[in-house]
Amino acid sequence: MKLEILELKDRKAKFVLSEVTPAFANSLRRAMISDVPKMAIDYVDIYDNTSVLFDEMLSLRLGLIPLKTNADMYRFPAECECKGAGCALCQVSLTLSAEGPCVVHSRDLKSSDPETVPVDQNIPIVELKTGQKVVLTAVARLGNGKEHAKFQPVCASGYKNVPVISIGEKCDMCKMCIDACPRGVFKADKGKLVVTDLYKCSLCKHCIEACDTGAITLDTDNEAFIFTVETDGSYTAHDIIDSAMKSLKGRADQLSEIMSAF
Ligand code: SF4
Ligand code: SF4
Ligand SMILES: [Zn+2]
Repeated sequence: MKLEILELKDRKAKFVLSEVTPAFANSLRRAMISDVPKMAIDYVDIYDNTSVLFDEMLSLRLGLIPLKTNADMYRFPAECECKGAGCALCQVSLTLSAEGPCVVHSRDLKSSDPETVPVDQNIPIVELKTGQKVVLTAVARLGNGKEHAKFQPVCASGYKNVPVISIGEKCDMCKMCIDACPRGVFKADKGKLVVTDLYKCSLCKHCIEACDTGAITLDTDNEAFIFTVETDGSYTAHDIIDSAMKSLKGRADQLSEIMSAF
């Protein structure tokens, strides 16, 4: 297995994973979406709501606000000593009290844990007119994407096969493919056609359509994948990839342990 990092930012990563099967690549993609535990608001006590939004709408919006997550600090409610009743080890309270005229934003949620706060401070929740009020306590807990989309830490987690582009001897350097390629994959260099950045190729086949000599062939590498991961900010992209890998390893270890009993 090989890993080549093409881009690694706080919220975005692009990398090439090679010498793996399509099944493994898909397992990693799915693990990033549904296995990485994330904090999200799951329960709301509404004491006052005279806004134009129903309580349910307000609660739904609160649940979708990404929260910074330190999964090592918390347990899943079902695995906690409180047996899911709710305690400081498995949940965080966020209070909200606002009176119009104003727009209530994510920054108005006051968390009992300074590390579990909205990722973005400027997410609008509801507009209050003069005299309208919202007073509530929200409870956030750990969950994962298998349970509900609000627990998914990624906005995007996908991959494509690495393209394989071959230029045959029939090429007469008409340069039609250079003009036809929307990604600028080709260039002429010292009288030869060269591929400048293979990973930019979207497999659109415009180059093949433009080539009258049939010199270009396009294929895909079935053991190499270009991954793109974008997070909602609850974790860094690095931590999501790491956590997903650990989740896959944990499952393999568990299966191995079960098998060792036979
Ligand atoms: S379009 Fe075909 S013949 Fe023309 S430069 Fe490209 S590969 Fe060569
Ligand atoms: S398949 Fe599309 S993106 Fe890829 S090299 Fe050909 S024209 Fe460019
Ligand atoms: Zn608990």
